[in-house]
Amino acid sequence: MKLYNTMSRSIEEFVPIVPGHVSMYCCGPTVYNYAHIGNLRTYIFEDVLKRTLENAGYSVKHVMNITDVGHLTGDGDDGEDKMEKSARETGKSVWDIAEFYTKAFFRDEEALHIIRPDIVCKATDHIQDMIALIKRLEEGGHTYTAGGNVYFSIDSIPDYGKLARLNIDDLKSGARIEIDSNKKNPKDFVLWFTNSKFAGQAMTWDSPWGRGYPGWHIECSAMSMKYLGEHFDIHCGGIDAIPVHHTNEIAQSEAATGKTWVNYWCHGEFLLMGNAKMSKSTGGFVTLPVLEGKGYNALDYRYFCLSGHYRSQLRFSFEALDSAKAARQGLMDRVASLKEEGKPSENPGEAALGYMKDFDEAMENDLGAPQALSVLWKLVKDSAVGASDKLAALYHMDKILGLGLSEAEKAAVTVGTEEDLKLLQERGEAKKNKDYKRADEIREELRKRGFNVKDTPSGAILEPIV
Ligand code: AMP
Ligand code: ZN
Repeated sequence: MKLYNTMSRSIEEFVPIVPGHVSMYCCGPTVYNYAHIGNLRTYIFEDVLKRTLENAGYSVKHVMNITDVGHLTGDGDDGEDKMEKSARETGKSVWDIAEFYTKAFFRDEEALHIIRPDIVCKATDHIQDMIALIKRLEEGGHTYTAGGNVYFSIDSIPDYGKLARLNIDDLKSGARIEIDSNKKNPKDFVLWFTNSKFAGQAMTWDSPWGRGYPGWHIECSAMSMKYLGEHFDIHCGGIDAIPVHHTNEIAQSEAATGKTWVNYWCHGEFLLMGNAKMSKSTGGFVTLPVLEGKGYNALDYRYFCLSGHYRSQLRFSFEALDSAKAARQGLMDRVASLKEEGKPSENPGEAALGYMKDFDEAMENDLGAPQALSVLWKLVKDSAVGASDKLAALYHMDKILGLGLSEAEKAAVTVGTEEDLKLLQERGEAKKNKDYKRADEIREELRKRGFNVKDTPSGAILEPIV
């Protein structure tokens, strides 16, 4: 297995700390709003990484946090707590906001066939672990208190910014006007806020430094080390986490333990909306329920994500999503036909095994999903491979792709919007009433909408015109 490591900026052979086992931490959602489909692209990438490692024979321990406190609207300790802001705007309690959006997040994940991490840990359930880690940093001389807050001093370690390759001298001389005058170095960051920051903060806890709440970065260090130990294999997130969040996670974790914290840093590129990163703060974002409301299946979006490499930017458009939808439905239809011909073979022949090997190799080469999909389509179109062998190979591939191929049913394949399906039903009734003129009119209308009507033993279905 080969993986691109952001730390070395190169593709490396993956060697786990404990042979056969992988420890993997992924930064989870901040539950103050719905996840947008850009956020979900990152979780799909992490799910595909985990599935690929498992397919390669590793057992994976996957931990993800839920940020329900401490994440400010600005990355440099500026702005206000995202949860508090959402609560103020909606008139709900922060706890209700967290519960509501956590549920919404896991509904989206389930619809996208993202396997739930082995451990999902909420920041607010781990405040004592964070306090213990801050104490450890304090004992090691890495912190200072100013204006009631506890700060991490980046000058207390020799290699701050190594992940992002930040040039500290440039940062100092070119630093923008400092917002927090308590900071000795503009890149120092808060480990613990006391109520000196915001009066009326709803979520606060007692601590040796006064009643307050933790900074955002400390939660990931404290929880990952609690569940995976002080040295683990893989840490993932979106690329926007590199310059501040992951940089600060590394600084405080390695300052506390005095050793390397994580071996492989894996980052997913952005989903773009137009020419910019899709983002909640700039307003232009789309959620999964919005796509579903327009007649797309969540798995159309999963397929769309798989069609691009995780380290390349992917531009969202409804035209591109339409192509992904047509491709996925075409695939489901092929699988449904194969299922009518036979069962997946238990001992696939050489040709099918060859396709499986090519597929695995593409995925194990830094998750080459677009190449792996082209292997899949080559197999689908290869008339020399029998139905049972094809099915076996496709099911094997789907362990990583997660498209639910084994559930493909001819009649159950839903193509088109609710209105298209209503027309299809109307055509069925017209035919039953021997109103062939009307039936033909509807067939023509559906053709204009992009579908052929195909009569099958289990009823008429829509087939996208590709
Ligand atoms: P958040 O809930 O804001 O903490 O973000 C959750 C995850 O989504 C993080 O790993 C981000 O790096 C990632 N992310 C944010 N915006 C995008 C985007 N436009 N495309 C892909 N990933 C993103
Ligand atoms: Zn994190």
